[in-house]
Amino acid sequence: MRLHWHRTDLRPSDNLALVSPDDSEEPRSSGSRPPAGDDPILPVYVFDPKILDHAAPPRVAFVLDSLAALREWYRDRESDLLVVRGEAPAELARLADDYGVDTVSWAQAYSGLGRRRDDRVADHLNEMGVETRIVHDHLLHEPGSITTNAGEPYSVYSYFWKKWKDREKRGSVPGPGADRLADPPHDTPIPTLDDLGFDRPEAEIPPGGYMEARHRLNDFCSDDIYRYEDARDDPAANATSRLSPHLTHGTVGIRTVHDRVVRARETAPNDATREAVETFRGELAWREFYHHVLYFNPEVVTENYRDYENPIEWRDDPEALQAWKDGETGYPIVDAGMRQLRAEAYMHNRVRMIVASFLTKDLLIDWREGYDWFRRNLVDHNPANDNGGWQWAASTGTDAQPYFRIFNPMTQGERHDPDAEYIREYVPELRGVDADLIHDWHDLSPTQRRRTAPDYPAPIVEHSERREQALAMFERARGEDD
Ligand SMILES: Cc1cc2nc3c(=O)[nH]c(=O)nc-3n(C[C@H](O)[C@H](O)[C@H](O)COP(=O)(O)OP(=O)(O)OC[C@H]3O[C@@H](n4cnc5c(N)ncnc54)[C@H](O)[C@@H]3O)c2cc1C
Repeated sequence: MRLHWHRTDLRPSDNLALVSPDDSEEPRSSGSRPPAGDDPILPVYVFDPKILDHAAPPRVAFVLDSLAALREWYRDRESDLLVVRGEAPAELARLADDYGVDTVSWAQAYSGLGRRRDDRVADHLNEMGVETRIVHDHLLHEPGSITTNAGEPYSVYSYFWKKWKDREKRGSVPGPGADRLADPPHDTPIPTLDDLGFDRPEAEIPPGGYMEARHRLNDFCSDDIYRYEDARDDPAANATSRLSPHLTHGTVGIRTVHDRVVRARETAPNDATREAVETFRGELAWREFYHHVLYFNPEVVTENYRDYENPIEWRDDPEALQAWKDGETGYPIVDAGMRQLRAEAYMHNRVRMIVASFLTKDLLIDWREGYDWFRRNLVDHNPANDNGGWQWAASTGTDAQPYFRIFNPMTQGERHDPDAEYIREYVPELRGVDADLIHDWHDLSPTQRRRTAPDYPAPIVEHSERREQALAMFERARGEDD
């Protein structure tokens, strides 16, 4: 018997660790089923309190939904998903003992914390004589497979992309056949949020599950992908894939996504739409780039990637931080983004960049505060992308925004939401206000503001002053202040 430990691979198909834990990583054509071995597979999900310590209601809600869908898939095949609670090493060891398991398989984790935990689990199982098979599944190209000619991991995305885009990629693999699955003798219910000690999320969480992921992928690849180049920076257009929770929690396999995207490229009607598909592929490469960065630099979750001569003198300003979290900064595009996060546990990428820049370069608050807020509120939070995004905006990361290039939140709003459609959707106090006035909010007099939108706050800081202070803060950190 082989126990398969589902974690961020909440899907039955295109799951390399589930189907074929000991299969090689050689690229193969899409759709061919790798050899599966003879052991029947017993699937399990473990709610480990140590892992749940790092979780938050939006992500747990999405996981519960996705587990229900995955369990149905197994049940439709006369099998079942075991769902247990307790520390993973002890629970897996107990199940291995109860069911006469020879091998436990799972997909490789890439964060430092995840890898340390997996080592502990593997040691514990190996000591009992149970084999462990840990398979790269989450990325098209695993860490260490795309390096500089000197064999070093890339720290500049554009060079990484040049190698990534033309490298042969493995195609998706089908799920295990029903004849491969074991049937556990008793039901194990999926706990509720309450059982696990989580509140109901304030936000509306998108539906989880592998079928939902498949629909979203197909919808996007038949339509919006072709306007991705032009519309991806327009938050009101809502033209991005919204696949991020699915990629984070593994309700879709990355090979399935890539295969479908390549098909969209093959059927693109012209060069411009082909280019749009390629731009989207570039985002998948960013995801892989940041996972590689995290793998080789696990400390980036708490430390700056980039060394500065002196510590950056971030401000301790709880009031400003709270205004940022509440979407009450008086900068409409920032507030719209922060309120989208509260309402949907999601925020558009362009707006993530704007709010992250605002926190670090206008409020001069440490990126770790923002990362922590995103970690608790995003349904798609994963340490690699979240940390990559924050350190990019804070000018502390790999291939980051240079410290002297500081987003102006008014011009960002005007450029990317010219009709203030996105702003009005999330900031009801500004509904009915002209786009021009919204984009000029910063320059209106107190009387004009009172007349225009009495319930919306005045800007909590002056951007031009803060810009100068941010430059000085970074110059001191660089040792260039005299
Ligand atoms: C401060 C900040 C924090 C972020 N935190 C996260 C996070 O916790 N989880 C997360 O998945 N993404 C994060 N991102 C990246 C990006 O904002 C989201 O992936 C994207 O908005 C998700 O929406 P989508 O699926 O519609 O994206 P699409 O534009 O449709 O992109 C498709 C997929 O490509 C990947 N991707 C897209 N943009 C990026 C990027 N800049 N970096 C890495 N991967 C990318 C994601 O997996 C995404 O689902 C963050 C970005 C910033 C600036």
